[in-house]
Amino acid sequence: MAIETRNPATGELIKTFTAHTSGEVTEKIEQAHQAFLSWRKVPFEERAKHMQKQADILEKEAEKYGRIISLEMGKPLKSAMAEVKKCATVCRYYAENAAEFMADEEIASGASRSFISYEPLGVVLAIMPWNFPFWQVYRFLAPALMAGNVGLLKHASNVPQCAQAIEEIVRTAGFPDNVFQSLLIGSGAVDAVIEHPHVKAVTLTGSELAGSKVAEKAGREIKKTVLELGGSDAFIVLDDADLEQAAEVAVKSRMVNTGQSCIAAKRFIVVESIAEAFLQKFSQKMQAFKTGDPLKEDVDFGPMARKDLAEELEQQVNDSVAKGAEVVLDGGRQGNDNAYFKPMILKNVKPGMPAYEEEMFGPVAAVMVVKDEDEAIAVANDSRFGLGGAVWTQDRERGLRVAKQVETGAMFVNALVASSPEMPFGGIKKSGYGRELSYLGIREFVNQKSIWID
Ligand code: NDP
Repeated sequence: MAIETRNPATGELIKTFTAHTSGEVTEKIEQAHQAFLSWRKVPFEERAKHMQKQADILEKEAEKYGRIISLEMGKPLKSAMAEVKKCATVCRYYAENAAEFMADEEIASGASRSFISYEPLGVVLAIMPWNFPFWQVYRFLAPALMAGNVGLLKHASNVPQCAQAIEEIVRTAGFPDNVFQSLLIGSGAVDAVIEHPHVKAVTLTGSELAGSKVAEKAGREIKKTVLELGGSDAFIVLDDADLEQAAEVAVKSRMVNTGQSCIAAKRFIVVESIAEAFLQKFSQKMQAFKTGDPLKEDVDFGPMARKDLAEELEQQVNDSVAKGAEVVLDGGRQGNDNAYFKPMILKNVKPGMPAYEEEMFGPVAAVMVVKDEDEAIAVANDSRFGLGGAVWTQDRERGLRVAKQVETGAMFVNALVASSPEMPFGGIKKSGYGRELSYLGIREFVNQKSIWID
């Protein structure tokens, strides 16, 4: 099967790649395993040197790699360059901290000495999505390699050039051969990789369906998984919120990456006494966001990553409207047959509608008006997802009280939900399990070995 790279802004086919055969995949897994046997013995300082060099390359070549991202999945060049530079931060973070995170941890017991030894597992398969085609990969790559593991990347089929670019960066940074390789394969070829005895664990970022399929297969093989799946983050606006600031961040949070982010705000839960005032500001600011060719300077958001994703979102909107959702800001595909989708705001969103129940992975905001704080928390928790969320109030104590009651992997008070290297990232409920980033992230794919000396 061929793997295609297509510019979503024009629909143009840029390049076609021949997928790796099953024989080539097996060879790569074996090479990865051989690389692991020596990489695991390389001291942290030397691993860190390559990781820092990698960060230098990402910073210096942000425009070159940003262009590849923009052309393959449509985000504006300035956002793509920011993404590449953010990858440098996670490389530096683990270069500087991995030795400490992986150091022996002494435990008081009846032994003369007892401790936890953190040891790498071996070959880890990373199945990654197209929405942040560099950042999602680096979130895995930096801790995995610093821990002494080696990585195999199965990237989303619409971003093969990003996968190749990352392989090139790793090579240029001087890492030994085969510690990180990309497998050019479709999702149908993943099961065989998971089955291979040298593959020890799997991490996946993507949809609920892909996550459950991969976890099912890995479960049968008794191999550990980390799943970072979808989200339908609540953005709670309480009656004492700074509405100007809340509306400003609401737009950014919904429109990040043309709405295609797992931690984008998706459900706007607004207390009724300020609902009209908030909606007016939200709608005004949303309209000021400029769309266009992602390679142009003054563009805030580009097309969605693929035409089929825009079609799917349109269907979710139509179904929600048919069930009674009210269109406050009209946008959508406007009869076009491409991947562009103008922002929309839906009000009166109720249980049973796709806008309430499902993840809306694009620029559509679902607004729900509630009577008070308690109802806001109840509605926020009435979701099968549990990734992130935000609450807006000028009373920080109140913000903290609400944050503690919302069932998610992260809550932000008066701030934009975002990932950063030092804070754990991941979800609960159908948003997945396990954590990336921070010291927790590097300890996901290690043997947490107890050592007892009498
Ligand atoms: P998918 O979840 O299908 O793709 C993500 C990755 O998983 C890709 O590498 C894909 O490969 C792979 N994959 C898919 N199915 C399987 C499988 N059965 N076995 C092994 N690997 C698999 O995302 P889509 O691109 O189809 O997007 C659909 C929806 O997923 C979005 O609308 C959004 O709701 C959600 N999503 C969430 C993301 C997040 O950040 N949490 C990121 C991307 C999507 P291939 O490309 O070859 O199919």
